[in-house]
Amino acid sequence: MSIYIDCKRCNERNTIRTNATNRSDLERDKGEVIQIRCKKCSTSKEYHVNEFQAQLNRNLILIAGAVGFLLTLLFWRFGFVAVISFTLPAIVYQVQYSSVRSFNNYKIKEIVKAKD
Ligand SMILES: [Zn+2]
Repeated sequence: MSIYIDCKRCNERNTIRTNATNRSDLERDKGEVIQIRCKKCSTSKEYHVNEFQAQLNRNLILIAGAVGFLLTLLFWRFGFVAVISFTLPAIVYQVQYSSVRSFNNYKIKEIVKAKD
């Protein structure tokens, strides 16, 4: 899962580096209002924690798919090939999907308003 904010000026999607899995973690990590400099238009703006969204990390799912494929090759002569290759990316997807959902569904109580 990755956390992103869409730039208020140019709409560019900026992902941020954090280990937070929900908005209150994100608040603890970066503060309630987070200053983001857009990678495209270089505008610095403050965004409230609740404005950030989570999305699936496609790279991770692709990697899981690749690993699943390699495992398939390795275990080709055993019978459970299809199980491994399909299960791994599916599990990664499932875990990511549920963390994305829980991040986006939970908002913190707003105390500070972000300035536009
Ligand atoms: Zn921008």
